[in-house]
This record gives sequence, structure tokens and C-alpha cells, in this order.
Amino acid sequence: MEFYRHQHPGDPDWLVRAALFHGHLGPWLVLGARIGADALARLDTPGQWKIEVVCWMPKSKQRTPFSCLLDGLQASTGATMGKRNLRFAYAPDVLDQGWPVVYVVRREDNGRPPEGVVYYPARELHALFAEVKPDRMEEASRSLACEEEARLFIANPMSPEAFSRYEQILACERAAIAEAAESDSA
Ligand SMILES: [Zn+2]
Repeated sequence: MEFYRHQHPGDPDWLVRAALFHGHLGPWLVLGARIGADALARLDTPGQWKIEVVCWMPKSKQRTPFSCLLDGLQASTGATMGKRNLRFAYAPDVLDQGWPVVYVVRREDNGRPPEGVVYYPARELHALFAEVKPDRMEEASRSLACEEEARLFIANPMSPEAFSRYEQILACERAAIAEAAESDSA
């Protein structure tokens, strides 16, 4: 695995930032960064503390290179592991034929109610990723960086059902955090 040492003069700033943060330039990173950027635009939010990101991932894909998706989301949205607003989740019925599904939710803010977008991989993405050769990964990633959006993902407003799945995840997390804090002070 090559580090991202040779910045291409044509690389846009967002791609450079994502690659420097992640350490290398790969297709799953680019997909995450593209999804995150689209979500911030759709939800009209600067991201960071104002959003929650849930990455539904098959158990077999919670490892690299697939998990690089998380760093792409992190670099582009500012939702981070440290802020506890970015996480993996698993539920077979949410996944799309073994492929990840991403929820990005803008929290309630100044009277604006919460709003979310759900991202499914586009059918074309399967073929695009299958074509990526390990020795030409940076090249393939650069072409994904300017690929037509519709060939990468499908974005839909989150349904009430999706919203309740999201709220369940957050409630479980809060309970686990509270339980851990209690056991610490016991
Ligand atoms: Zn990677």
C-alpha cells in the first residue's frame, strides 16, 4: 500500500484532504467522501457537530478496504469517531444486497427539525469497483472522484422507518455509554 505522497496537480482540494487524512487514495475512501459532500449540500449543513452518520455495513465488510468508506465520510463531513457521531452499524435488512448503506442526519438545529438522507450504492458501482486493479488504485480513485453521481450512489430522503432505526441506534449508544460510565465509578 503506497502512502499518498505524490499529489497529482489535478487533484481537487477535497480529494487531497481526504487522502492525506486517510494515508492513501483508494476507491472506498473516494466513495465515502463523495457521499459526505453530497449529504452536506442536500441537508444544507456545515456538518461537524450538527450531523450524525450511520454506516450500515455487512459484517464481512467491516474491514479494509471497505471500512475506508468511513474515513471518506469522516474527511468530508467532519463527523468523527472522536465526536462519537460516526459509527458502523449492522442489520441485514438495511443492507443493499451485501453492500453498505449510509444514513446522514442533520440534527435538530435552531427550530429546524432533523432531516436525513439515505445512500444506496448505484448498480453501476459494483462494476466500477470490480474494475479497480490493485496496481492502478490511485488512477481508478481519481476517475471515481469525477464520476457521474448517479453511477456511484442513489440518495433518498430518509423514511419514517429509517428514522426510527436511526433513533434506535442512538438510544442503544447512549445506554451503552451511560452503563460504561456507571461501571467505571462503581
Ligand atoms: Zn483505504
